[in-house]
Amino acid sequence: MLGDILQRLSTLPLSIKHFGRLPKYSDLMSFSLPAPSPTVTASQVPGLFREPYILSGYRPVQQEWRCYLLSLFQKHNESLNVWTHLLAALVLLLRWWANASALGYTLETASLPLCMFLVSSLTYLFFSVAAHLLQSHSEHAHYFFFFLDYVGVAVYQYGCSLGHYFYTSKLAWRGSSIGLLFLPGAAVFGWLSCAGCCFAKYRYQRPYPMQRKICVLIPTTLAYMLNISPVVDLLLTVSWTQEPSLPFHGLQIVSFLLSAIFFSCPIPERFYPGRCDFAGQGHQIFHLFLSLCTMFQLEALFLDYARRKDTLLDLFGESQLWWACASFPVLFLCCILTAVFTMRHTINKLQSKQERKK
Ligand SMILES: [Zn+2]
Repeated sequence: MLGDILQRLSTLPLSIKHFGRLPKYSDLMSFSLPAPSPTVTASQVPGLFREPYILSGYRPVQQEWRCYLLSLFQKHNESLNVWTHLLAALVLLLRWWANASALGYTLETASLPLCMFLVSSLTYLFFSVAAHLLQSHSEHAHYFFFFLDYVGVAVYQYGCSLGHYFYTSKLAWRGSSIGLLFLPGAAVFGWLSCAGCCFAKYRYQRPYPMQRKICVLIPTTLAYMLNISPVVDLLLTVSWTQEPSLPFHGLQIVSFLLSAIFFSCPIPERFYPGRCDFAGQGHQIFHLFLSLCTMFQLEALFLDYARRKDTLLDLFGESQLWWACASFPVLFLCCILTAVFTMRHTINKLQSKQERKK
Protein backbone atom coordinates (compact mmCIF):
# COMPACT_ATOMS: atom_id res chain seq x y z
CA MET A 1 0.00 0.00 0.00
CA LEU A 2 2.63 2.54 1.12
CA GLY A 3 4.89 1.19 -1.60
CA ASP A 4 2.20 1.87 -4.24
CA ILE A 5 1.65 5.42 -3.02
CA LEU A 6 5.36 6.16 -3.05
CA GLN A 7 5.78 4.59 -6.43
CA ARG A 8 3.07 6.89 -7.80
CA LEU A 9 4.45 9.90 -5.97
CA SER A 10 7.90 9.24 -7.32
CA THR A 11 6.67 9.48 -10.92
CA LEU A 12 4.92 12.86 -10.36
CA PRO A 13 6.89 15.91 -11.49
CA LEU A 14 8.08 18.19 -8.69
CA SER A 15 6.84 21.37 -10.33
CA ILE A 16 6.91 23.78 -7.35
CA LYS A 17 9.70 25.73 -8.99
CA HIS A 18 7.62 26.25 -12.10
CA PHE A 19 4.78 28.33 -10.66
CA GLY A 20 4.08 31.27 -12.91
CA ARG A 21 5.02 29.55 -16.17
CA LEU A 22 4.09 26.36 -17.93
CA PRO A 23 6.73 23.67 -17.32
CA LYS A 24 8.50 22.36 -20.43
CA TYR A 25 8.58 18.60 -21.04
CA SER A 26 12.34 18.52 -20.40
CA ASP A 27 11.75 20.20 -17.00
CA LEU A 28 9.20 17.54 -16.11
CA MET A 29 11.64 14.80 -17.02
CA SER A 30 14.51 16.25 -14.99
CA PHE A 31 12.40 16.69 -11.86
CA SER A 32 10.81 13.26 -11.73
CA LEU A 33 12.26 10.74 -9.28
CA PRO A 34 13.05 7.25 -10.60
CA ALA A 35 10.56 4.59 -9.58
CA PRO A 36 12.12 1.37 -8.25
CA SER A 37 11.63 -1.49 -10.73
CA PRO A 38 9.34 -4.35 -9.69
CA THR A 39 11.06 -7.15 -7.84
CA VAL A 40 12.28 -10.26 -9.68
CA THR A 41 12.93 -13.93 -8.93
CA ALA A 42 16.22 -15.47 -7.75
CA SER A 43 17.08 -16.72 -11.26
CA GLN A 44 16.97 -13.13 -12.57
CA VAL A 45 19.77 -11.78 -10.33
CA PRO A 46 23.47 -12.80 -10.32
CA GLY A 47 24.38 -15.69 -8.00
CA LEU A 48 26.11 -13.36 -5.51
CA PHE A 49 22.78 -11.79 -4.51
CA ARG A 50 20.80 -15.02 -4.11
CA GLU A 51 19.97 -16.15 -0.59
CA PRO A 52 19.29 -19.85 0.13
CA TYR A 53 15.57 -20.76 0.10
CA ILE A 54 14.53 -17.17 -0.82
CA LEU A 55 13.01 -17.53 -4.26
CA SER A 56 11.54 -14.10 -5.09
CA GLY A 57 11.36 -10.44 -4.00
CA TYR A 58 14.85 -9.51 -5.30
CA ARG A 59 15.51 -5.97 -6.49
CA PRO A 60 17.09 -5.90 -9.96
CA VAL A 61 20.74 -4.83 -10.08
CA GLN A 62 22.16 -1.72 -11.81
CA GLN A 63 19.24 0.63 -11.13
CA GLU A 64 19.96 4.23 -10.11
CA TRP A 65 21.15 4.68 -6.50
CA ARG A 66 18.01 6.66 -5.72
CA CYS A 67 15.90 3.60 -6.59
CA TYR A 68 17.60 1.63 -3.80
CA LEU A 69 17.10 4.50 -1.35
CA LEU A 70 13.42 4.67 -2.31
CA SER A 71 13.15 0.89 -2.00
CA LEU A 72 12.97 1.61 1.74
CA PHE A 73 9.23 1.94 1.07
CA GLN A 74 9.00 -0.90 -1.45
CA LYS A 75 8.05 -4.47 -0.58
CA HIS A 76 11.06 -6.71 -1.30
CA ASN A 77 12.93 -9.53 0.39
CA GLU A 78 15.26 -7.19 2.34
CA SER A 79 12.59 -4.69 3.52
CA LEU A 80 12.36 -6.17 7.00
CA ASN A 81 16.14 -6.53 7.33
CA VAL A 82 16.33 -2.76 6.81
CA TRP A 83 13.36 -1.78 8.97
CA THR A 84 14.28 -3.99 11.96
CA HIS A 85 17.61 -2.20 12.44
CA LEU A 86 16.24 1.23 11.52
CA LEU A 87 13.51 0.98 14.17
CA ALA A 88 15.97 -0.52 16.66
CA ALA A 89 18.18 2.58 16.24
CA LEU A 90 15.17 4.81 16.91
CA VAL A 91 14.11 2.84 20.02
CA LEU A 92 17.71 2.84 21.26
CA LEU A 93 17.89 6.64 20.99
CA LEU A 94 14.55 7.00 22.79
CA ARG A 95 15.65 4.68 25.62
CA TRP A 96 18.96 6.53 25.87
CA TRP A 97 17.13 9.83 26.15
CA ALA A 98 14.71 8.44 28.78
CA ASN A 99 17.51 6.89 30.88
CA ALA A 100 19.75 9.94 30.55
CA SER A 101 16.96 12.31 31.64
CA ALA A 102 16.06 10.07 34.60
CA LEU A 103 19.70 10.04 35.75
CA GLY A 104 20.52 13.65 35.02
CA TYR A 105 23.27 12.36 32.69
CA THR A 106 25.99 14.80 31.69
CA LEU A 107 28.86 14.21 29.31
CA GLU A 108 31.93 13.84 31.54
CA THR A 109 34.92 11.51 31.77
CA ALA A 110 33.00 8.90 33.79
CA SER A 111 30.24 8.68 31.17
CA LEU A 112 32.58 8.39 28.15
CA PRO A 113 32.42 4.54 27.91
CA LEU A 114 28.60 4.74 27.95
CA CYS A 115 28.81 7.23 25.10
CA MET A 116 31.16 4.92 23.17
CA PHE A 117 28.65 2.11 23.66
CA LEU A 118 25.86 4.23 22.14
CA VAL A 119 28.06 5.35 19.22
CA SER A 120 29.15 1.76 18.55
CA SER A 121 25.55 0.46 18.65
CA LEU A 122 24.31 3.16 16.27
CA THR A 123 27.29 2.46 13.98
CA TYR A 124 26.47 -1.23 13.61
CA LEU A 125 22.75 -0.54 13.17
CA PHE A 126 23.24 2.12 10.46
CA PHE A 127 25.96 0.19 8.60
CA SER A 128 23.62 -2.81 8.56
CA VAL A 129 20.74 -0.65 7.26
CA ALA A 130 23.03 0.72 4.52
CA ALA A 131 24.19 -2.80 3.58
CA HIS A 132 20.70 -4.27 3.29
CA LEU A 133 19.30 -1.20 1.51
CA LEU A 134 22.05 -0.54 -1.02
CA GLN A 135 23.93 -3.81 -1.64
CA SER A 136 21.70 -4.85 -4.57
CA HIS A 137 23.06 -2.03 -6.76
CA SER A 138 26.04 -4.05 -8.09
CA GLU A 139 28.65 -6.61 -7.11
CA HIS A 140 30.99 -3.78 -6.06
CA ALA A 141 28.29 -2.24 -3.86
CA HIS A 142 27.46 -5.64 -2.37
CA TYR A 143 31.04 -6.20 -1.23
CA PHE A 144 31.64 -2.60 -0.16
CA PHE A 145 28.54 -2.35 2.07
CA PHE A 146 29.00 -5.77 3.64
CA PHE A 147 32.63 -4.93 4.47
CA LEU A 148 31.27 -1.81 6.20
CA ASP A 149 28.75 -4.01 8.01
CA TYR A 150 31.66 -6.06 9.43
CA VAL A 151 33.37 -2.83 10.54
CA GLY A 152 30.17 -2.00 12.43
CA VAL A 153 30.11 -5.40 14.16
CA ALA A 154 33.75 -5.11 15.30
CA VAL A 155 33.24 -1.57 16.58
CA TYR A 156 30.09 -2.65 18.43
CA GLN A 157 31.94 -5.52 20.12
CA TYR A 158 34.56 -3.07 21.38
CA GLY A 159 31.92 -0.56 22.51
CA CYS A 160 30.26 -3.31 24.60
CA SER A 161 33.64 -4.34 26.02
CA LEU A 162 34.32 -0.78 27.23
CA GLY A 163 30.92 -0.64 28.93
CA HIS A 164 31.33 -4.06 30.56
CA TYR A 165 34.85 -3.30 31.77
CA PHE A 166 34.26 0.12 33.31
CA TYR A 167 30.72 -0.28 34.66
CA THR A 168 30.05 -4.00 35.20
CA SER A 169 33.33 -5.77 36.10
CA LYS A 170 34.31 -6.54 39.70
CA LEU A 171 37.63 -5.54 41.27
CA ALA A 172 38.67 -9.20 41.81
CA TRP A 173 37.94 -10.05 38.15
CA ARG A 174 39.97 -7.03 36.93
CA GLY A 175 42.93 -8.32 38.93
CA SER A 176 42.77 -11.75 37.20
CA SER A 177 44.87 -12.52 34.11
CA ILE A 178 41.77 -12.16 31.84
CA GLY A 179 40.92 -8.85 33.49
CA LEU A 180 44.45 -7.49 33.00
CA LEU A 181 44.50 -8.38 29.30
CA PHE A 182 40.85 -7.56 28.69
CA LEU A 183 40.95 -4.17 26.92
CA PRO A 184 43.90 -4.82 24.55
CA GLY A 185 42.47 -8.34 23.94
CA ALA A 186 39.02 -6.93 23.11
CA ALA A 187 40.56 -4.48 20.62
CA VAL A 188 42.66 -7.20 18.95
CA PHE A 189 39.76 -9.71 18.74
CA GLY A 190 37.42 -6.94 17.51
CA TRP A 191 39.83 -6.14 14.68
CA LEU A 192 40.41 -9.87 13.97
CA SER A 193 36.68 -10.52 13.64
CA CYS A 194 36.38 -7.65 11.14
CA ALA A 195 39.43 -8.90 9.21
CA GLY A 196 38.22 -12.54 9.33
CA CYS A 197 34.73 -11.67 8.05
CA CYS A 198 36.11 -9.38 5.29
CA PHE A 199 38.59 -12.03 4.17
CA ALA A 200 35.94 -14.79 4.17
CA LYS A 201 33.57 -12.61 2.12
CA TYR A 202 36.34 -11.81 -0.36
CA ARG A 203 37.64 -15.37 -0.64
CA TYR A 204 34.63 -17.71 -0.52
CA GLN A 205 31.34 -17.95 -2.39
CA ARG A 206 28.38 -20.31 -2.02
CA PRO A 207 28.42 -23.24 -1.46
CA TYR A 208 30.65 -22.14 1.43
CA PRO A 209 33.54 -24.46 2.41
CA MET A 210 34.49 -25.26 6.02
CA GLN A 211 37.39 -22.75 5.94
CA ARG A 212 34.91 -19.89 5.72
CA LYS A 213 33.31 -20.92 9.01
CA ILE A 214 36.77 -20.97 10.62
CA CYS A 215 37.59 -17.43 9.40
CA VAL A 216 34.26 -16.04 10.63
CA LEU A 217 33.34 -18.09 13.69
CA ILE A 218 36.67 -18.40 15.53
CA PRO A 219 37.50 -14.66 15.86
CA THR A 220 33.88 -13.57 16.45
CA THR A 221 33.29 -16.27 19.09
CA LEU A 222 36.57 -15.48 20.88
CA ALA A 223 35.72 -11.76 20.78
CA TYR A 224 32.28 -12.44 22.29
CA MET A 225 33.60 -14.79 24.98
CA LEU A 226 36.12 -12.20 26.11
CA ASN A 227 33.68 -9.30 25.90
CA ILE A 228 31.03 -11.08 27.99
CA SER A 229 33.47 -12.54 30.58
CA PRO A 230 33.07 -9.72 33.21
CA VAL A 231 29.28 -10.09 32.93
CA VAL A 232 29.40 -13.88 33.34
CA ASP A 233 31.69 -13.46 36.35
CA LEU A 234 29.16 -11.11 37.94
CA LEU A 235 26.19 -13.36 37.12
CA LEU A 236 27.92 -16.35 38.73
CA THR A 237 29.27 -14.67 41.85
CA VAL A 238 26.72 -12.03 42.90
CA SER A 239 23.13 -12.53 44.08
CA TRP A 240 20.62 -11.42 41.42
CA THR A 241 18.64 -9.49 44.04
CA GLN A 242 21.72 -7.55 45.07
CA GLU A 243 22.38 -6.07 41.61
CA PRO A 244 19.36 -4.67 39.74
CA SER A 245 21.23 -4.84 36.41
CA LEU A 246 21.76 -8.61 36.54
CA PRO A 247 18.38 -9.67 35.03
CA PHE A 248 19.11 -7.34 32.06
CA HIS A 249 22.59 -8.86 31.69
CA GLY A 250 21.03 -12.34 31.75
CA LEU A 251 18.58 -11.26 29.05
CA GLN A 252 21.32 -9.75 26.88
CA ILE A 253 23.18 -13.10 26.91
CA VAL A 254 20.04 -15.14 26.09
CA SER A 255 19.13 -12.72 23.25
CA PHE A 256 22.65 -12.87 21.86
CA LEU A 257 22.76 -16.69 21.90
CA LEU A 258 19.37 -16.87 20.15
CA SER A 259 20.56 -14.33 17.56
CA ALA A 260 23.67 -16.45 16.93
CA ILE A 261 21.50 -19.54 16.23
CA PHE A 262 19.39 -17.69 13.65
CA PHE A 263 22.49 -16.08 12.14
CA SER A 264 24.16 -19.42 11.48
CA CYS A 265 21.10 -21.45 10.35
CA PRO A 266 18.69 -20.42 7.59
CA ILE A 267 15.61 -21.37 9.61
CA PRO A 268 12.65 -21.38 9.18
CA GLU A 269 13.01 -20.70 5.39
CA ARG A 270 14.94 -23.95 5.02
CA PHE A 271 11.71 -25.85 5.75
CA TYR A 272 9.46 -23.52 3.74
CA PRO A 273 11.40 -22.48 0.61
CA GLY A 274 9.76 -19.47 -1.04
CA ARG A 275 7.30 -18.92 1.81
CA CYS A 276 9.54 -16.55 3.84
CA ASP A 277 10.54 -14.34 0.90
CA PHE A 278 9.09 -11.23 2.54
CA ALA A 279 8.69 -12.05 6.23
CA GLY A 280 9.93 -14.76 8.59
CA GLN A 281 13.53 -15.23 7.37
CA GLY A 282 16.12 -16.39 9.88
CA HIS A 283 18.19 -13.26 9.17
CA GLN A 284 15.27 -11.04 10.19
CA ILE A 285 14.89 -13.01 13.45
CA PHE A 286 18.65 -12.63 13.97
CA HIS A 287 18.27 -8.84 13.57
CA LEU A 288 15.43 -8.81 16.10
CA PHE A 289 17.33 -10.76 18.77
CA LEU A 290 20.52 -8.74 18.22
CA SER A 291 18.52 -5.51 18.57
CA LEU A 292 16.95 -6.85 21.77
CA CYS A 293 20.41 -7.77 23.06
CA THR A 294 21.53 -4.16 22.47
CA MET A 295 18.43 -2.79 24.27
CA PHE A 296 19.06 -5.01 27.32
CA GLN A 297 22.72 -3.98 27.31
CA LEU A 298 21.72 -0.33 27.32
CA GLU A 299 19.39 -0.80 30.29
CA ALA A 300 21.97 -2.88 32.19
CA LEU A 301 24.83 -0.45 31.51
CA PHE A 302 22.77 2.55 32.64
CA LEU A 303 21.99 0.78 35.94
CA ASP A 304 25.66 -0.18 36.39
CA TYR A 305 26.75 3.36 35.49
CA ALA A 306 24.31 4.90 37.99
CA ARG A 307 25.72 2.71 40.75
CA ARG A 308 29.35 3.41 39.94
CA LYS A 309 29.53 6.88 38.41
CA ASP A 310 30.64 8.71 41.58
CA THR A 311 33.52 6.34 42.31
CA LEU A 312 34.56 5.55 38.72
CA LEU A 313 37.40 8.07 38.52
CA ASP A 314 38.86 6.84 41.85
CA LEU A 315 38.59 3.21 40.71
CA PHE A 316 40.21 3.58 37.30
CA GLY A 317 41.87 6.99 37.17
CA GLU A 318 41.14 9.61 34.54
CA SER A 319 44.02 8.67 32.25
CA GLN A 320 42.95 5.00 31.93
CA LEU A 321 39.44 6.10 30.95
CA TRP A 322 40.78 8.54 28.36
CA TRP A 323 43.23 6.01 26.92
CA ALA A 324 40.55 3.34 26.65
CA CYS A 325 38.16 5.70 24.91
CA ALA A 326 40.85 7.08 22.60
CA SER A 327 41.50 3.50 21.46
CA PHE A 328 37.89 3.35 20.18
CA PRO A 329 38.41 5.69 17.17
CA VAL A 330 41.80 4.02 16.55
CA LEU A 331 40.11 0.60 16.29
CA PHE A 332 37.39 2.14 14.09
CA LEU A 333 40.07 3.51 11.75
CA CYS A 334 41.98 0.19 11.64
CA CYS A 335 38.76 -1.65 10.72
CA ILE A 336 37.88 0.92 8.02
CA LEU A 337 41.41 0.56 6.56
CA THR A 338 41.05 -3.24 6.60
CA ALA A 339 37.72 -2.96 4.76
CA VAL A 340 39.24 -0.56 2.19
CA PHE A 341 42.25 -2.84 1.71
CA THR A 342 40.02 -5.91 1.16
CA MET A 343 37.79 -3.86 -1.16
CA ARG A 344 40.78 -2.99 -3.37
CA HIS A 345 41.62 -6.69 -3.69
CA THR A 346 37.96 -7.47 -4.39
CA ILE A 347 37.86 -4.87 -7.20
CA ASN A 348 40.93 -6.51 -8.79
CA LYS A 349 39.30 -9.92 -8.45
CA LEU A 350 36.05 -8.73 -10.05
CA GLN A 351 37.98 -7.03 -12.89
CA SER A 352 39.97 -10.15 -13.71
CA LYS A 353 36.72 -12.20 -13.61
CA GLN A 354 35.21 -9.74 -16.11
CA GLU A 355 38.29 -9.99 -18.37
CA ARG A 356 38.14 -13.79 -18.35
CA LYS A 357 34.48 -13.57 -19.47
CA LYS A 358 35.39 -11.40 -22.54
ZN1 LIG B 1 21.89 -8.25 8.50
